[in-house]
Amino acid sequence: MRRHLFCLLLLLSAAATAQQAPIALEGTLVTPQDVIPHGIVLMQNGKIVASGADVKVPTGTKVTHIEGVIAPGFIDLHNHLTYNVFPRWKPIEEFGSRYDWQQKPVYNVLLSAPYAGMVKLGMACDMERYAEIKAITEGETSLVGGLQQACSNGLARNLDYDPELGSSTGKIVYNVFPFQMNEVQLAEAKAALAATPRGSLLIHVAEGGPNDASASREFTMLKGRGLLLPGVSVIHGVGIKPENFAEMAKAGVGFVWSPRSNIELYGDTARVAAAKAAGVQMAIAPDWSPTGSDGTLGELKYASRWNQTQGSQQTPPPLFERDLVLMATATPAAMVNLAGQIGSLAAGNAADLIVIREIGDDAYWSLTHTAPQDLELVVIGGQAVYGDAALMKQIGATHGEDFEVCGAKKTIELTGKSLADTEKGLSHAMNQFGRTLAPISECGN
Ligand SMILES: [Zn+2]
Repeated sequence: MRRHLFCLLLLLSAAATAQQAPIALEGTLVTPQDVIPHGIVLMQNGKIVASGADVKVPTGTKVTHIEGVIAPGFIDLHNHLTYNVFPRWKPIEEFGSRYDWQQKPVYNVLLSAPYAGMVKLGMACDMERYAEIKAITEGETSLVGGLQQACSNGLARNLDYDPELGSSTGKIVYNVFPFQMNEVQLAEAKAALAATPRGSLLIHVAEGGPNDASASREFTMLKGRGLLLPGVSVIHGVGIKPENFAEMAKAGVGFVWSPRSNIELYGDTARVAAAKAAGVQMAIAPDWSPTGSDGTLGELKYASRWNQTQGSQQTPPPLFERDLVLMATATPAAMVNLAGQIGSLAAGNAADLIVIREIGDDAYWSLTHTAPQDLELVVIGGQAVYGDAALMKQIGATHGEDFEVCGAKKTIELTGKSLADTEKGLSHAMNQFGRTLAPISECGN
């Protein structure tokens, strides 16, 4: 008995030393459902403990006052991370569908052949590391589309293979060519969707212009494969008709929108007004940086501008700025069955958040118009990983690496290889294939 008591005391003292001191940030909160001016978010041990207008801060907690907006970190449900080392690809023509450009010699010369060469040289993990740093500088704290191997040293949360959220998460299956899935893969995906907690299936469907026959046929094929199921989310969906969105809403199928890449490749994007009217759960994500955005901040800004062009004197634009912010935070979390764990400042969520400079009266508008240099802080699991050096230090960061983003000095906390060494190695390898490394941020978009 005494021995048991001794063990218990040892355990308790170990737990006490593992306890982090609470951290409080005070500023304008975007929860994201509401805006709370002069709110406080209190974090401890990687989680949000409390947030709101009247949070009681424990004695001894250091409160950092923020002249800006505090929001949940962005959740990116559509990326192809390792391709983000390539600079922007400006096709001189518009394509019908993805099947068109993927077989063009220009795609092979500029992207697929050098990509394969880089992977053969053993650069894949560095490509992923660079892409995750790029994503973090765009406010992303959770993402998909990385390599199915542990080579990123835990930068952002990799939802599709290692979300680091404990055991209460379903499996997230991410698939670029769902109609190539064999019976075994299809059975695995359906098993994930039927499991408890429910898993998710994120698939590229109908990626092409709205008049492209192959793209519009894919929705019928999706139904034929028995995949109109809760937990499935369709990525792109440019060829999806308004009546198809109604079917998706009824079946509990979500939609991931990537407007910039759609418009650059196909000259058009999905019918988001119809998707919204049908009540489809919608997320926004950057696709990849060669034809999409560097990350979510850029994609939100692009989407907001595009949205403004869609209204007329009689009809308002289809989306509010608040809709866009929800599409980058709470809604994608719900789509992959992670509501309550990420995507919100509510108590119990992982302490994944961002701080931006406030650039207008409307906090939602600020979030959809932030330039990369105005992202002041990124916190993942309660740890400050990126931002302005002074703010990082205030909340406990100790050994950051400085670099410049669009003329502003930023700091990133990395374990293992430095960003400078990663860039050097990648640049050298890419030069062997006649390509140059894409910058962390294109700036000025
Ligand atoms: Zn894609």
